[in-house]
Amino acid sequence: MAQILIFQGPPGAGKGTQARVAANELGIPHISTGDILREAVRKNTGLGLAAKAKMAKGELVPDNVMCGIVEERLGRPDCREGAILDGFPRTIAQAQFLDGILERTGLGEPLVLQINVDTESVIKRLTGRRTCPACGEIYNVYLNPPREDGVCDKDGVKLVQREDDNEEAIRIRLRAYEEDTFPLIDYYRRKKALHQVDGGGAPEVIAERLLGLVKAHDHL
Ligand code: AMP
Repeated sequence: MAQILIFQGPPGAGKGTQARVAANELGIPHISTGDILREAVRKNTGLGLAAKAKMAKGELVPDNVMCGIVEERLGRPDCREGAILDGFPRTIAQAQFLDGILERTGLGEPLVLQINVDTESVIKRLTGRRTCPACGEIYNVYLNPPREDGVCDKDGVKLVQREDDNEEAIRIRLRAYEEDTFPLIDYYRRKKALHQVDGGGAPEVIAERLLGLVKAHDHL
């Protein structure tokens, strides 16, 4: 059955890491709106120029911009079997827009996986995060370091720190989560689409919890 999975949770919950693993395992695309925006910034496209300052500060990019991106991406043929949304929706307006897309495309009700992590772990995951600019692999200098310091295990490319993983931007991102994204928990709970997942522990253990839930849901 085609299924849209929404990986939800605060910045640093492990959404990106887990969405990569789950997309691979389930054979459906991983759609990270943050990755799409970072790529646009790197390439200096119109979208990149519009989003750059907001992203660097840790503020949300306007809903109309984000909704357009996701509508286009979900309309591509590779999403017919489903997809994992990581970082979208982030506001009630985005969630309502997504409901419209899912209805129009016949993709059905989403399954929302809310990844819960305590604030101390979130800070550690964000400040320690390093990513490979070539393949997108995510590491953490404290929790999940690469074999060789500062270099991607997969392709040997030098790892980078995200521009918004600094103290000031992290503070603003956490506030945006509390104010704009947290209300989505109730939104999806009311629709009976919400599943809570313990986001603590090793990445492999969290992946098992998430995939267990998705597979159990598939058999309902
Ligand atoms: P992420 O990689 O999901 O942490 O997103 C990085 C940044 O991209 C966010 O702090 C926002 O500036 C922007 N962004 C990503 N997704 C969205 C969204 N759905 N709505 C608004 N802004 C977004």
